[in-house]
Amino acid sequence: MNVCKTAFTRLTAVLLHVKSTPLRYCHSSQLLTRHKDMRVKLLPALEDNYMYLLIDEDTKQCAVVDPVEPAKVQAALKEENVQLTTVLTTHHHWDHAGGNEKLIEAVGSKVVVGGDERIGALTRKVSHGDELKIGSLNVKCLYTPCHTSGHICYFVTGPSGSQPAVFTGDTLFVAGCGKFFEGTPGQMYTALVEILATLPPETKVYCGHEYTVSNFKFAATVEPNNSELTARMDLAQKQRNNKEPTIPSTIGDELSFNPFMRVREASVQQHTGQSDPVKVMGALRSAKDNFKAR
Ligand SMILES: [Zn+2]
Repeated sequence: MNVCKTAFTRLTAVLLHVKSTPLRYCHSSQLLTRHKDMRVKLLPALEDNYMYLLIDEDTKQCAVVDPVEPAKVQAALKEENVQLTTVLTTHHHWDHAGGNEKLIEAVGSKVVVGGDERIGALTRKVSHGDELKIGSLNVKCLYTPCHTSGHICYFVTGPSGSQPAVFTGDTLFVAGCGKFFEGTPGQMYTALVEILATLPPETKVYCGHEYTVSNFKFAATVEPNNSELTARMDLAQKQRNNKEPTIPSTIGDELSFNPFMRVREASVQQHTGQSDPVKVMGALRSAKDNFKAR
């Protein structure tokens, strides 16, 4: 093969790669979920991340959660015809906070909220219990360190007080939880069992990644006889076969099948051979870190 032909082949390969990139990155369809006072638009990003628009139905003001792909966020703002006021960042990892600066460059100055100095374009550092408004929606900051030391979840209620939402980043996933990069099993126990589990059970959970199927495969090894778990695992598998998101779940759902929220249950304790819930949490996380989903 001469040099020119080799170069041409390479160029073709590059072009084919570029052409196929959008498909590769479109891991799920978008999803609009209507609550009584708000709507939440799920935007797939990167290989398995989710960004969200949180829209106040009263004023059409809106926040975006973890806008790692600003262009997609801008398109969605246009499509929904809403006014962005606030960026809510769950934690500093690049696949969540990495789009903040570019987004602000593109749309102008906004309030950028987070619990960690390492978050780009941060204008308001928050701590546990801090509250802010998106139009008539109330956002309460829940400090949930462990995956990272500055992780914040955002609990949202509207004027009706019903059908709340929580954005959990990489702390709580459907049927799982984030890795303990900067924290301890005790901190994850506080986050999941003492904070998130005490939210109203109907609270819809919007998490940071589509990890549901592999989380369920692990959960099924912990509680093979949990019928709620196996039913939801089948549903999640069907949803993923159609590239549908498995999000949102609810806090009530998670309490029924997420082993990391069930560390006080006898069946989960038995599986780990531990009875102290914090030790159960640590044992589950180590087991999941070494688990290979088939
Ligand atoms: Zn993370």
